Amino acid sequence: MSSKCTSIKMTDRNGDLSFINQKATQWRDIPQKEIHYAPKEETIFLSGGLTLLQDKLVEAALNSMSINFTALPNPDFESFQKGKAFGNRGQCNPTYFTVGNLVKYLQNLRDETGLSAEEIVEKYVYITAGGCGPCRFGMYITEYKKALRDAGFEGFRLTSFEHDKGIFQGDDIDEEILNFTPKFFITLIKAVIIGDIINLLTYKMRPYEIEKGSVDKAVTQCKEIVSKAFLEHRSLIKAMWKCRSMLSQVKLNRLQPKAKVMVMGEFWAAMTEGDGNYNLHRFLEAEGAECIPQPITNRLMLSIWEAEQALYKTENLYIESSKKVDFSNVKTRLLIKIGKAAVKTHFALYAKAIGLHDYDIPNMEKLAALAKEYYTLDCSGGEGHLEVAHLIESVKHNLSHLVISIKPFGCMPSSAVSDGVQSLVTNRYPEANFLSIETSGEGAANFYSRVQMALFKAKQLAKEEFERIEVPEYIPEKVHNYLYQPLSTKAGTAAQLIETL
Ligand code: SF4
Repeated sequence: MSSKCTSIKMTDRNGDLSFINQKATQWRDIPQKEIHYAPKEETIFLSGGLTLLQDKLVEAALNSMSINFTALPNPDFESFQKGKAFGNRGQCNPTYFTVGNLVKYLQNLRDETGLSAEEIVEKYVYITAGGCGPCRFGMYITEYKKALRDAGFEGFRLTSFEHDKGIFQGDDIDEEILNFTPKFFITLIKAVIIGDIINLLTYKMRPYEIEKGSVDKAVTQCKEIVSKAFLEHRSLIKAMWKCRSMLSQVKLNRLQPKAKVMVMGEFWAAMTEGDGNYNLHRFLEAEGAECIPQPITNRLMLSIWEAEQALYKTENLYIESSKKVDFSNVKTRLLIKIGKAAVKTHFALYAKAIGLHDYDIPNMEKLAALAKEYYTLDCSGGEGHLEVAHLIESVKHNLSHLVISIKPFGCMPSSAVSDGVQSLVTNRYPEANFLSIETSGEGAANFYSRVQMALFKAKQLAKEEFERIEVPEYIPEKVHNYLYQPLSTKAGTAAQLIETL
């Protein structure tokens, strides 16, 4: 940022005023020592922090574009501790987990491969999403830089694309190193969408598997099939079709009346599959529940919706002030429409190929309409109005027996704003079984105990719902096939299957 000031007013200890002339300059975070970074062909890109499957699919997708990319391992409790040790105080725990995870990876690389910290700095680059806004998300890059410097990796390169405004590159990265081209994003988004679809099926199937571990085994095979298709530039639709036969071999018993739990909340806390949310999804499954996860595609659709809203506002402002229609945004509007249609089409094609029939990408207009009475739609940051919308939607359409909103300790949009509003929502919808819960990276026993309490009620609801349905004498084998996904008014899977026979 440049400054127009050319002099600074100073007072000495006697209170006399003096002026120091200062030339306006661009501030840059430049390492103290000059670093000779490796050329593009020798540079290794790192990233991570999505679901386990998506990190690996993204790795294959980017490798297929000749980008030397490695997905970091899933952030764990040790990552969190490193984040706390090297980060600033008062950050939210996705920052600690993700920043600490990078520090941990680089330290292990240094200690296990014999590479010096200088060699690592010269050779590696970290890719992350960034952005500005009302929450700490805008400070992630600064946090990475601070922690890396303090951990002995000063000058380590970071590059970031804004989650809501398109793309920009960090000011310390050579533009030739990585081009965020449309092809880069399209390939990345394909990997994310496919990962979402397989994850949705995994969570639908795993609670009902007869042989423990069989769903995870089939999903590992799917991961290999899709990764190979990316690397060999083959049809991803055909790859998803092949995955269908892998999943079809898994034997299920779907007539167990299990509590269905919608897991939503702050994006990272709700999505991660590890210590970052105390392995919430696995914990729920072990306790006899079925989870509805939040696909990353939903967050993508929210970003597109926010971009569209911002455009409307700018255009209306122009009309109000100049009484003329502004045509300069036609291209942006068109790009948004194309982007939205492309995401929906790809999702539908891949979902159909693998056999996910009963899931549609959420309609952002409908969700906004549900939330707007409670939550100012202009108030962005975090998931914005989505948490409120998801709870109302779940109650109105009987989607689950319990809604868990998970958020990092002290998360501004999620804990401070959404949860305040949710108390009004639960007051208006007393039938909602809702649990808002924070993660701090510590205090797992308290966390699990609160989840168990809410789950107890959800299990009762699932059992009662099932018992109210008349079970026919003959049950066709198709009910146990994951491809049978009838539409139903019931929340529980077993009740849905029986109701529609
Ligand atoms: S949404 Fe919450 S947890 Fe996520 S970056 Fe913002 S403040 Fe942190």
